[in-house]
Amino acid sequence: MPFSTTTLFLLGVAAGAALVLSVIALLRLANAGGRSQRVTAILAVSRRYALGDLSRPAPDYGDDDLGSVARSMDQAVQELGRRVDGLARDRARMEAILSSMIEGVLVIDEQGRLQLVNNAARRILKLEQSAINHSYVEAIRHPGIVEHLGRALAGGETSAFELSVTRDTTRTLVAQVAPVVSAGRGAVLVMHDITELRKADLIRRDFVANVSHELRTPLTAIKGYAEALLDDPDDADAHGRFVEIIHRHATRMERLVKDLLRLARLDAGQETVEMAPCDINALVRGIAGDFEATAVGKQQTIAVTVTPEAAMLNTDAAKLHDIVRNLVENAVNYTPAGGAIDVMAMVVAGRFRLSVGDTGHGIAPDDLGRVFERFYRVDKSRARPGGTGLGLSIVKHLVQVLEGEVIVENQAAGGALFTVSLPLRQSAAER
Ligand code: ADP
Repeated sequence: MPFSTTTLFLLGVAAGAALVLSVIALLRLANAGGRSQRVTAILAVSRRYALGDLSRPAPDYGDDDLGSVARSMDQAVQELGRRVDGLARDRARMEAILSSMIEGVLVIDEQGRLQLVNNAARRILKLEQSAINHSYVEAIRHPGIVEHLGRALAGGETSAFELSVTRDTTRTLVAQVAPVVSAGRGAVLVMHDITELRKADLIRRDFVANVSHELRTPLTAIKGYAEALLDDPDDADAHGRFVEIIHRHATRMERLVKDLLRLARLDAGQETVEMAPCDINALVRGIAGDFEATAVGKQQTIAVTVTPEAAMLNTDAAKLHDIVRNLVENAVNYTPAGGAIDVMAMVVAGRFRLSVGDTGHGIAPDDLGRVFERFYRVDKSRARPGGTGLGLSIVKHLVQVLEGEVIVENQAAGGALFTVSLPLRQSAAER
C-alpha cells in the first residue's frame, strides 16, 4: 500500500526538522567564526522546509564548510521532497483508477478492517465513507460477502460467487474474493455487475425461441401438404390448392429469413451507407403507387404531401425507401377498409421529417414503447398472416444507420402516426 497523505506530510516535516536541528548546530559553529548572517538565512530556509514549503530558490550558502554542509542538507531535503511528491502522485493515480472503475473493489486488512472501498463498491454495497477502518462484519450487510471474506482472511483460497444486493434485487453481480498475502495479510473483494449481460442473454434466448416458433409454423404446413400430395398424387383438385398453400408458406418463410438476415447485417454494422441526392417526391409517390392496388381494394386513400424544402434530401435512398415502404405497408394493413393514409415530408427545425399517419385503431399506450421490438405484435389475432413482426425493428435500425430517430404516437383523432426525422446533410455537389 502507498503512504497515506498524513504519512507523507509527516515525512516532509521530519526532514525539515532534521535540517533545523543541523542548522542550529551550525549556528553555534558559525557564531564562533562570525558567519551569523549567512546562518540566519539558512535558518529561515530550514524553517520554511520544516513547515512543508520546499520551494526554492535557496540562499547563497557560500563555499566554505558551513556552505557545503547546508547545501548537502538542502539537497537531501529536496530529494526527499521529490520522493514524497512521487508517492503522492502514485497514490492519486491509484485512487483515480480505482474510483473510475466500473467494478467494485474493497480491501480489508488482517484485523478485518475496511482499508479501501472504491466508488463502485460503495454504491453497490451502500457503504458510507465513514465505514473505512471499521470492521467489514459490521459494515457489510450481505451475509454471502461476509462469509467469503472471512474464509479468505482465515487463509482460504480465492472464491467466486454470484449475488444480488439486498436493496436492488434486479441487479446480478459476480464477486470474487481473494486472500492478500504480500504487505501484511488481508483480503480483496472485486464485484462485477453482469445485469446487462444477463439481459442480453435472455433477449438472445427469447429471439432464438421466437425464430424457431416462427419458422416451425410454415414449415409444418409445407411438410403436411407435401405429404398429402405424395399420399395422393392423382387428386388433381387438391393438387392445385395444396401447391398454392405450400407456395404461400414458403414465401412467408423466405420473407422471414430475408428479414432475419437483414437484421443480422444491421446488428453487425455490415450495411454500408451510400449518400446521394434523393428525389423524395419520386421515392414516396413510387411507394404509394406500389400499394395503390391493395389500398383501392380496401377503399383506402393514400395522400402524399412533399413540401418544396423537403423535395431533395442527401441520404441513402435505398434505406429511406425500405423505411417508408415498411411504414406505408403497415398503415395499409392495419387500417380498416375505408381509411385514409397520409404521407408527409417536410423540413422542421432544420431536420428532414417524414410522417406516415393513418385512421386505423392506433396502438394501445402500453404497446407504443414495444412495437419496435423484434417479433412484437400488438394483437396476434389481428396481426396479418404475412407479417414477420420484424418490420418495425428493421425500420428502427435503418433510421439509426442514417443517424435519425423514429417515434410512434397516436393521433388525437385516432390512428397511428409514425415520424422519422433525419439530419439535413449537404451533398458533395452543394458543398
Ligand atoms: P408485422 O410484420 O407484424 O407488421 P411490424 O414490426 O411491422 O411487424 O409491426 C409490429 C406491430 O406493430 C404489428 O404487429 C402491429 O401490431 C403494430 N403496428 C405497426 N404499424 C401499425 C399501424 N400503422 N397501426 C396499428 N398498429 C401497427
